[in-house]
Amino acid sequence: MSKASWPSPGRWRELGRIRILGVGIDPVTMAEALSRVEGLLDGARPSQVITANPEMVMLARRNKPFAQVFQEAALVVPDGYGLIWASRFLGRPLPERVAGIDLLDNLAALAARRRYGLFLLGAREGVAAEAAAELQRRHPGLIIAGFHHGYFTPDEERQVLDRIREARPHILAVGLGTPRQELWLARHQASLQVPIGIGVGGSFDVLAGRVQRAPRWMQARGLEWLYRLLREPWRYRRVLFIPPFVGAVLRQKLTGRRELS
Ligand code: UDP
Repeated sequence: MSKASWPSPGRWRELGRIRILGVGIDPVTMAEALSRVEGLLDGARPSQVITANPEMVMLARRNKPFAQVFQEAALVVPDGYGLIWASRFLGRPLPERVAGIDLLDNLAALAARRRYGLFLLGAREGVAAEAAAELQRRHPGLIIAGFHHGYFTPDEERQVLDRIREARPHILAVGLGTPRQELWLARHQASLQVPIGIGVGGSFDVLAGRVQRAPRWMQARGLEWLYRLLREPWRYRRVLFIPPFVGAVLRQKLTGRRELS
């Protein structure tokens, strides 16, 4: 094989992934995800971890830069229950749901154990600080390298970047909402030289106690979207992707297994 046609690192990673609507998801359990992250922390390259859900998969299908970020990510875990459903329906089951907020909590435990610094970027003023305090309460000894709210202007961005650079965290959790947080990490992580970057959506709000998580029985049945819709009906647009997602998965099933690879 000539050098020009040799797959890029991103393509190699894609090979082990289960493809749902053309988007690769790593078939990992929570424990496997953690040990993969532990390995990446020891590596030299800044790596992004994506906590994927069906909405993001639908977006990646029509947004090339976002699809590229998925391909280049070191690890893509199935956060949304819809991905677990789709993988089972398509006959290539993902082992379990790896919820972003639980992964963040487990990463904080890992960081506390191995003395890694964690930086929290995102959410409204004061929320990241409260989330950091909660993580420290849960994981004594956790080093919080820093935190910053997520409502900075383009002009202020340089200061935010400098602050992260100076803090030299090992893990940067970014809660700016998707797809912004993933695109932001893809753009800045190399210059920040942070080994692990992970988009965590609204996790800081939950950790800070500002937003309630769905009850366990709803989580287990894949009904978190319904819980959020009932609590925040003005976010109804956020569930409009569900019927097209289900329709596209049905089509993938009917039109053969090529997209599964
Ligand atoms: N957010 C932010 N800056 C912005 C817009 C949003 O920091 O300019 C935060 C917001 O406060 C919330 C998170 O990003 O904490 C988005 O949460 P959401 O639950 O909507 O996450 P998503 O489902 O979009 O990943």
